[in-house]
Amino acid sequence: MKYCEITENVSFLSDRVNIGLIKTKNHTILIDSGLDKSTANKILRVLSKNNLTADIIINTHGHADHYGGNAHLIEKTDLQVWAPRGEAHLLEFPEYEPAYFFGGAYPPPELCSKFLKAEPSRVDRRISAGERINIDGIEIEFVSLAGHSLHQIGVVCQNVIFTADSYVEEDIIKKHGIPYYADIASAVKTLNYLVESDFDYYLPGHGELLKNPAEVCRLNLDFFKKMEDLICNILKTKKEEAELFAAVVEDRKIKINSMQKYFLLKTTVNAFVSKLAGEGELESIIKDNKLYWIKSSV
Ligand SMILES: [Zn+2]
Repeated sequence: MKYCEITENVSFLSDRVNIGLIKTKNHTILIDSGLDKSTANKILRVLSKNNLTADIIINTHGHADHYGGNAHLIEKTDLQVWAPRGEAHLLEFPEYEPAYFFGGAYPPPELCSKFLKAEPSRVDRRISAGERINIDGIEIEFVSLAGHSLHQIGVVCQNVIFTADSYVEEDIIKKHGIPYYADIASAVKTLNYLVESDFDYYLPGHGELLKNPAEVCRLNLDFFKKMEDLICNILKTKKEEAELFAAVVEDRKIKINSMQKYFLLKTTVNAFVSKLAGEGELESIIKDNKLYWIKSSV
């Protein structure tokens, strides 16, 4: 984990999940806390080397790899946790994330690894997109970056934006075939917002600090278009839900080798189906106790 300065008050700790850092006269604020206790310990070591003690964590969204370090940081340091209003319940009740994947039911053990279910975290303050706060004369603004999760936020300070998981780099799209998104219509808005924005720096949850994310955001938008075309093409004739899923996964040349991967992909494919159905492009049919989808006839 490397300490990297961006502006006078804004830095980050570069790691598998980048951790943002905002220093004001009296406060040290972390943005996200990584996966687990071991990440939290790495954060504590780097902070201590730099004579810093964090007293606030702002979590961008309720995914285990972004808040999993909270529990250990809370135990070791007297800090406050701030989380988006619509994501806070995931930190407080971590079984919700895998339960979402399992149709809302209590999740089976295969979905309860630390990658999907972290230690629970207290939330002291619920924050909303559009909110601005001033800490010791330093302004911090929260913006909506919904899409990857339903209520993900970005954090802006000194014209640097922490973009969480709003876009993924090209090699991740290639490696995963279908990166995780929960709400495609919102993700399109978020990506267009980032393309048109004019911040000095963009730091994603995973990947490099960028001065301009337009190219990578456009790649994500192109991927969305490809997925929508693929689904509409497959659904020229009606397909049972599982049949559609298998056809999409096969086309993207993905090999599913775990239940975790199965449900992450399933949720993203559902997110595309849901967007297309909402736009009137797809219709559902319930027949013989099965759910089918078909492209709407124009
Ligand atoms: Zn995430």
